[in-house]
Amino acid sequence: MKYSKPNRKIVIAVDGFSSCGKSTFAKMVAARLGYIFIDTGAMYRAVTLYAIENGCIENGILNEERLVASLDDIHIDFRFNPDRGASDIYVNGQWVEGKIRTITVSNLVSAVSAIGQVRERLVAMQQEMGREKGVVMDGRDIGTVVFPNAELKIFMTADPEVRAERRYLELQAKGEEVSRQEIVENIRQRDYLDQNRAISPLRKADDAIVLDNGGMSLEEEMEWFDNIFSTLA
Ligand code: C5P
Repeated sequence: MKYSKPNRKIVIAVDGFSSCGKSTFAKMVAARLGYIFIDTGAMYRAVTLYAIENGCIENGILNEERLVASLDDIHIDFRFNPDRGASDIYVNGQWVEGKIRTITVSNLVSAVSAIGQVRERLVAMQQEMGREKGVVMDGRDIGTVVFPNAELKIFMTADPEVRAERRYLELQAKGEEVSRQEIVENIRQRDYLDQNRAISPLRKADDAIVLDNGGMSLEEEMEWFDNIFSTLA
């Protein structure tokens, strides 16, 4: 694909598999360009947390009807947190950033994100957030559904074992007791559900550039990005 000149603000879509380091990459790119970083996975996780805390999960099973009926009561917003250099997510005015990345939420989020009405609302919010451009948005369907005309699309992937190890270390650092096996299972299951759901399944946009960051350091990822970005002339 031939990209247009980035002499104005553009939309950068970063899609890919679970635990590829999309958010870290997207956040660093946004900081480099002075763009806004939007983690759309956090939005699906926030709705999932709401479902857990508001009786929409019964014996580990999602009550889809009840969640859909509650959608009008879920108000999501992002507020910039200078300590993190990124925006924290709030649900109905409550800070939930610290609660959305547990294994409990991870195990339910793909079921929540497969619901059409949930996607419709969150996609509309995401499109509104990117209306002025100058955003780096990461997710699963950004380059295919949310911003099919994004000027730059990146599709991230890495070996599942590498991804599981990264997520394991991340959760351990936060003090969450979880086995490697549980994480491998979760990543495998989310990859499968995200790729096989009926609405907006995870897939690489035809015009996306693949970044396999398996053996790469963050510096190498940024070098890779700078090279790509410099070709947008
Ligand atoms: O990116 P993260 O792993 O936090 O996303 C959590 C889950 O949210 C994904 O496994 C996927 O089911 C869902 N998601 C989605 N579409 C997006 C972003 C995330 O379906 N744009």
